[in-house]
Amino acid sequence: MTDRGLLIVLSGPSGVGKGTVRQAIFENDGTNFDYSISMTTRKKRVGETDGVDYFFRTKEEFETLIENGGLLEYAEYVGNYYGTPLAYVEETLASGKDVFLEIEVQGALQVREKMPEGVFIFLTPPDLVELKSRIIGRGTDEMAVIEERMEKAIEEIEMMRLYDYAVVNDQVENAVRNVKQIIESEHLRVSRVIHRYKKMIEEL
Ligand code: ADP
Ligand code: 5GP
Repeated sequence: MTDRGLLIVLSGPSGVGKGTVRQAIFENDGTNFDYSISMTTRKKRVGETDGVDYFFRTKEEFETLIENGGLLEYAEYVGNYYGTPLAYVEETLASGKDVFLEIEVQGALQVREKMPEGVFIFLTPPDLVELKSRIIGRGTDEMAVIEERMEKAIEEIEMMRLYDYAVVNDQVENAVRNVKQIIESEHLRVSRVIHRYKKMIEEL
């Protein structure tokens, strides 16, 4: 029995702080998980780098990858495609390392269908007024897009019940601590199950 890595999916509405929480998780310790860089057709924002924040691709390039089955999941989100390259996820999990995805809700639900053994965490805002002010405060979207993102957020929050865990992003440090605790306890749970099965196989 191989010890595959865990697939960890952090999801939730745009502007809730997924990127902020993910960066804090990766910055402040030697984690045993790798971040899967997504592909998108959206325009690069100031300060973003191709191959670091996203793989920025044209619509044609993205659609070719869809046709070739190169994506674990993808979604059209507020006029652009976003997706997770499949090969990287497969190879990393097979090597025994955890993979961390930070994706929106439609994509997370597709991953759930394909890899139900993953750990699905929904990051939720303390309230919707705070969510809107975070999106506005980020200063990356025009007002019409913000309204669209808010409508989408309300739909997405209703999907929270489909996840394994919900974490409130009130303070970044609290959310980071809670996400890390979930990952640790999932590791313990999985290793206990694997240990039990290995013993059963030995005793056969
Ligand atoms: P997402 O990746 O979910 O779209 P971001 O990480 O870009 O969200 O965060 C949106 C905005 O909210 C950013 O300006 C970020 O600095 C801010 N933010 C994130 N988490 C918190 C928090 N716990 N409290 C206050 N502001 C936050
Ligand atoms: P943004 O434009 O703010 O970078 O991202 C918009 C939304 O797309 C965010 O909720 C972000 O988490 C999500 N997203 C980023 N990468 C992916 C991906 O690979 N797949 C899916 N389904 N969503 C993604």
